[in-house]
Amino acid sequence: MAKGIFHKARRIGGFLLLGLITLGLGFYFLLLNSEGLQDRLVARAFEARLSAPPRPLGGDAIDVVFCGTASPMGQGAAQSCVAVFAGDRFFIVDTGARSADMATRLDLPMGRLDGVLLTHFHSDHIAALGEMHLASWVRGRPQKLAVYGGAGVAQVVDGFNLAYGLDYGYRTAHHTEAIMPSRTAGLVAKTIKGDQVIYDVDGLKITAVSVNHPPIEPAYGYRFDYQGRSVFISGDTTKDDNLIAAAKGVDVLIHEVLQEGLVKATSEALTAFGQPKLGQLIFDTLDYHTTPIEAAQAANEAGAQLLVFYHYAPVPQNALVHRIFMRGVDAVRPEGVLAAADGTHISLKGNSEAVEITP
Ligand SMILES: [Zn+2]
Ligand SMILES: [Zn+2]
Repeated sequence: MAKGIFHKARRIGGFLLLGLITLGLGFYFLLLNSEGLQDRLVARAFEARLSAPPRPLGGDAIDVVFCGTASPMGQGAAQSCVAVFAGDRFFIVDTGARSADMATRLDLPMGRLDGVLLTHFHSDHIAALGEMHLASWVRGRPQKLAVYGGAGVAQVVDGFNLAYGLDYGYRTAHHTEAIMPSRTAGLVAKTIKGDQVIYDVDGLKITAVSVNHPPIEPAYGYRFDYQGRSVFISGDTTKDDNLIAAAKGVDVLIHEVLQEGLVKATSEALTAFGQPKLGQLIFDTLDYHTTPIEAAQAANEAGAQLLVFYHYAPVPQNALVHRIFMRGVDAVRPEGVLAAADGTHISLKGNSEAVEITP
């Protein structure tokens, strides 16, 4: 009796599955051959994407969104890029390769961009500066794009302006001053001289802090303070006392990490399989970054509430590599560690203790 019911259920299940597959294939065939259906689907997709209300970013909170978490070692994730919103202000720290694409895919309100803060001028921190300029210009950024950085930032800015200068002109000529105004085209260098507060407007204070990334000098980290909440972004550095002192008591310390074992394994494999120069280059990165365990020690010494890893060397491509990154971290800092990925969003509501994380 029970066996009969089982067979009947299986037969019905089989028919249902066949029906669904036939329906799916039928719809696919229709889609390939009906221009009307194709156009309706495209219109629906635009409507779904553009009618959604903008993400609430800033206001009375500090919101941090990762628009790039990779170092030059690894593919997939965008290179170094952290978006920080506080009140009506919006800054991006570093613009590594693929980060402008990531920022627009994450629907960051690029027209609101007040400035870019460069930690230093390694390519994985500046490569997408031109694209970040374009992404914000076409969305109505109301002034030229300010680019903050240590001595040398003027050279970087002049270079991008020179390379993109023809493009600025083409776009204004084609789309008119009303749509692409020449008044807001271009980058403006803001040179930082030593450790200092570089921005203090409407309650948002940004402090530049020199860090240790030899031979690159200067290299900066940035501290953001707003409504009693604080975030520190390390840039590239070894474990550094100046950083720890300046990050004292922060709510969130965002720190770069290099996994020593993985870097050595990569270097040895490249050397063993016929690429000794690249192997040596990878090996050389060991002396100017921070291991995850050292980053955990730095967070403890600074008394940071939450430590967030980014700028991974190499970039974890799967759960196994991620576990290798976390080796030994638990013993130093059992709680309050987050591994950021592109798109991770951390929200710190003003004058509270709340830390909201959306992975
Ligand atoms: Zn870097
Ligand atoms: Zn660097």
